[in-house]
Amino acid sequence: MPVTEDRQKFVYDFTEGNKDLKDLLGGKGANLAEMTNLGLPVPPGFTITTEACKVYLEGGEEPLSMRDEVSAHLAALEERMGKKLGQADDPLLVSVRSGAKFSMPGMMDTVLNIGLSDASVAGLATQAGDERFAWDSYRRLIQMFGKTVLGVDGDLFEEALEEAKHTKGVSTDVELDAADLKRLVEGFKAIVAQETGRDFPQDPREQMDLAIRAVFDSWNGDRAKLYRRQERIPGDLGTAVNVCSMVFGNLGPDSGTGVAFTRDPASGHQGVYGDYLQNAQGEDVVAGIRNTMQLAELEQLDKASYDQLMQIMETLETHYRDLCDIEFTIERGKLWMLQTRVGKRTAGAAFRIATQLVDQGLIDEAEALQRVSGAQLAQLMFPRFDEKATTELLGRGIAASPGAAVGKAVFDSYTAVKWSRSGEKVILIRRETNPDDLDGMIASEGILTSRGGKTSHAAVVARGMGKTCVCGAEELEVDTKRRRMTAPGGVVVEEGDVVSIDGSTGKVYLGEVPVVPSPVVEYFEGRMHAGADDADELVQAVHRMMAYADRTRRLRVRANADNAEDASRARRFGAQGIGLCRTEHMFLGERREMVERLILADTEAERDEALGALLPLQKADFVELFEAMDGLPVTVRLLDPPLHEFLPDITELSVRVALAEARQEAHENELRLLQAVHKLHEQNPMLGLRGVRLGLVIPGLFAMQVRAIAEAAAQRLGSGGDPRAEIMIPLVGTVQELEIVREEAERVIADVEAATGTDLKLTLGTMIELPRAALTAGQIAEAAEFFSFGTNDLTQTVWGFSRDDVEASFFTAYLEKGIFGVSPFETIDRDGVGSLVRAAVQAGRATRPDLKLGVCGEHGGDPESVHFFHEVGLDYVSCSPFRIPVARLEAGRAAALNGTASDSR
Ligand code: PEP
Ligand code: MG
Repeated sequence: MPVTEDRQKFVYDFTEGNKDLKDLLGGKGANLAEMTNLGLPVPPGFTITTEACKVYLEGGEEPLSMRDEVSAHLAALEERMGKKLGQADDPLLVSVRSGAKFSMPGMMDTVLNIGLSDASVAGLATQAGDERFAWDSYRRLIQMFGKTVLGVDGDLFEEALEEAKHTKGVSTDVELDAADLKRLVEGFKAIVAQETGRDFPQDPREQMDLAIRAVFDSWNGDRAKLYRRQERIPGDLGTAVNVCSMVFGNLGPDSGTGVAFTRDPASGHQGVYGDYLQNAQGEDVVAGIRNTMQLAELEQLDKASYDQLMQIMETLETHYRDLCDIEFTIERGKLWMLQTRVGKRTAGAAFRIATQLVDQGLIDEAEALQRVSGAQLAQLMFPRFDEKATTELLGRGIAASPGAAVGKAVFDSYTAVKWSRSGEKVILIRRETNPDDLDGMIASEGILTSRGGKTSHAAVVARGMGKTCVCGAEELEVDTKRRRMTAPGGVVVEEGDVVSIDGSTGKVYLGEVPVVPSPVVEYFEGRMHAGADDADELVQAVHRMMAYADRTRRLRVRANADNAEDASRARRFGAQGIGLCRTEHMFLGERREMVERLILADTEAERDEALGALLPLQKADFVELFEAMDGLPVTVRLLDPPLHEFLPDITELSVRVALAEARQEAHENELRLLQAVHKLHEQNPMLGLRGVRLGLVIPGLFAMQVRAIAEAAAQRLGSGGDPRAEIMIPLVGTVQELEIVREEAERVIADVEAATGTDLKLTLGTMIELPRAALTAGQIAEAAEFFSFGTNDLTQTVWGFSRDDVEASFFTAYLEKGIFGVSPFETIDRDGVGSLVRAAVQAGRATRPDLKLGVCGEHGGDPESVHFFHEVGLDYVSCSPFRIPVARLEAGRAAALNGTASDSR
C-alpha cells in the first residue's frame, strides 16, 4: 500500500487506540491503549505508528507531519503531567520503547529517562528527595542512549561501572552512592565524547527525537532481522514507538519492577507467577542481572500493591479471555502497568489453558481450537527423558521451556553455531543470555543458564522458539571464560562433555539420558486412556481438543501406509482410511530379485512366470492391509518408481562383471543384468520411465497388481470383511494414458468378479502430480473416479526443482535471501502449485460433480497446507501415521476459523 503522507495520522495518544490496532500501533502500543481505556493505572503517553516507521525506512526521513504531531502530543502530555520535558526544576522524563505487531523480545531498542540533563538532574533529585536516585537515573540514560542511539560499545560503560564498584570495594550497583554515581556520569559523558566526537545531547527534545529514530533503525538491526527470519515475521511491518511518561522502580525499597503471568506459562496452572525486583528499573528483571524474588513474596512487602495487581490480573484475563503477561512498576507504593499482552506459553500449557478457558465459559470450542496449533501438538509428541534412568544429576534449575535435550556443552554462541554447523548437537550454557546470543540459541538443542527466572531472556526466547530451556540453575557455577561448569559435588563439565537438560522438570544431567515416548503418544496409541487415573491433565486436555477438532472438521484424514502395522497404528491415531499405499515398498528385500526377473524376461513365458510369482505375494499384502483397514477406503497406487531402482547399482555391477571377466569366471547372468541396467539407465529418471508409463510398456505388470487387489478384496469379502479398495494410477499426464490402463483394469476386475462371484465395487482414479494433468483435469476426470494430488511431484515439476537434491543444495541460500520463507516441499506454495490444485479441483468437479478429491503428498500433514486443502474443498488429506493427529487438529482449526474471528499467530 503506498503511504500517503498528507492526511495520515502518525501519532496516537494512549487514550485513542485499542487492542485491535496492532498493525498500526504495534502490540505494546495497542495494549497500552487498551489498558488505559480499561481504566488501569498506565502512565500517560503516546504511540508513533508503524506507518511512520515504514516511511522512515523507505526514505530515510521521518514523515514531514510527524514532528508536528509529536510536538502536539508532547505538549498535551506536559500539560497533563504539569511539567515540561527536561524542565530544570521538575523534569518530565519519558521512555522511548519499540513495539512491533509481533513480540520480538529484546530484539529492538528502548531508552529510559529521556529528558535528564546536567540542568535537570538536580531538579529530579529535589523532587524525588533522593539525590542518589537522580544520578543513577542519569547514568542509566547516558549508558542506554550511548549504546543504542549513539552506537557506543556497551562494554565501555559496563567496564566503567565495574571499575567504580571495584574502587569502592562493593559488588552491586545499589551500593554506589550519589557521589560515586555523579563521578560515573562524568566518566560516561567522557566515553560518549571520545567515542562519538560529540557531547551527550543536553537538549531533551533532541534526546527524544534521536531515540525515536534509533527505534526505527533498530527494526533493521541484525538481531531483529535474525529473529524475524526465525519466527517467520514479515520484514516490512516496521515497528511503532511508544513514548511514555516515566515511573520509577528504583526510588528505594518501596519501589521495584516486575513481570507476571496470569497463569503459569509452562503448565497452564492458575496461580501467582512472576518475578519482582526491589529498587530496580526497566530491563533489570528480565536481564537476569540480580536474582529476583518470586511475585508471591510481594504480598509481604507491599500488600496494597499486591492486592491491586492480583485484581488487575483478573480483569485482564477476563478481558482478553486468555493468559496475559504483564510488566509493572511500583513507584513508592503506587502500582503502574507498563505493558500487557497475550502471553507466550508452552505447547502443553496451550492445550490446558484452552480447555480451562472453555470450562470457565470464557471461550467456546471453536475459539479454543484457535488457541492451539498442530506444531504444538507435534511438540507434545516428542519423546521425554526416562525418569528411571540412572544418570548423574548435576543440579536443578527452573523448568523454563519443556523438552528433553541432549548435546555437547558449549559456553558461547560462536562455538554453538560453529559446532552445530558441523553436525554436532550442542547445549548452550551461559550465566545468562542476552539478545546477542540469539544465533547460538537457534543453533542449540537446548539452553541452560545459571541465573535469571522464568521471565529471563533465555526463558522467554527459548519458549518462543519451542526450544528446551532450564534457567536459573544457581547451584551450577558457570565459568564462560574457562569454558566449564562446576556442579555442587565438584563435578566439572568441560566444553564438549555431553549433558542432558529437562525443560519440564529443570533437571540437568551429566551424559546422555535415554528417552521414553511422550504420554500424548501413549494416549494416541491407545495405551493410555484420557479417563484413566494415571492420565495427566495434559492427556485429558489433548483428548478434549481432539474431540473438538473431530467434531468441527470437514476434511477427512487418511494415512500413507504400505503395511498392516502402519495401517493399524494409523487407525489408532484416527486415520479414516489409507490415502496412499506405495506398492513399490512391497518389492523390497528378497522380492527385489523377482522384479529383476520380470525386467530381464526375454520371452512371454519368462515374464508370465515372474508375474505369477509376484501375484500371490502382492495379494497376501493387500489382504492384510484391507483387514487392518476393514470398512475404510484403501487407495492402492500401482507401481510408480523407475525400474532401475529395482536393479543393482550400475558401477558396482560393472566392477563385478569386469572382475569376473578378468578371473575368467562364469558371469552370463550378471552380463545380462548389466545390459539391462544400461538399457534402463536414464539421465533424469524422475522424468523418465516411471508411473503410468511403466504400466503401458511392461505388459502384464499393472494387470498383475490389479488382479492382486481384486483377488484380495474378493477373499476379504468371502471372509465377511468389508474391503474398500481404490486403485490409483500414478504420474498420468493425459487422459489417454488413463483410459488404456482403465480398460485393462476393468477387464481384469470383471474376470475376478466372474470367477469369485463377487461385486467388488472397486473404484479407479489417478494422481494429479504433473502440471499437464492439473491443466487438463477436466478431461482426466472423465476417466477417473477420484483424484489424489501428488504435491511432491507437482511441486517438483511446477518449480523445476529436483525434490531429491535442492533442499540440500541451494535452499538455504534461497531461504536466507527471503525468496521463500519455507521450502515449497514442506508447505504448499499457494500461489503457484496451489493455484494449479485449485483449478484442477474446479475443472475436475465440473466434469464429474461427485469426483472424490484428496492429497497424498507430504503437504497432507503440514499444518498450513491442511488449511489450504480445506479452503479449496478437498475431501481428505493423507499423511504419514505420526502426523495424523496434527492433520486432524489442523483440519478442525481450519473449519472453525471460518466461523471465528481470530488472531491466528
Ligand atoms: C507425490 O508425488 O506427492 C506422491 C505422493 O508420490 P511420491 O512421493 O511417491 O512420488
Ligand atoms: Mg509422486
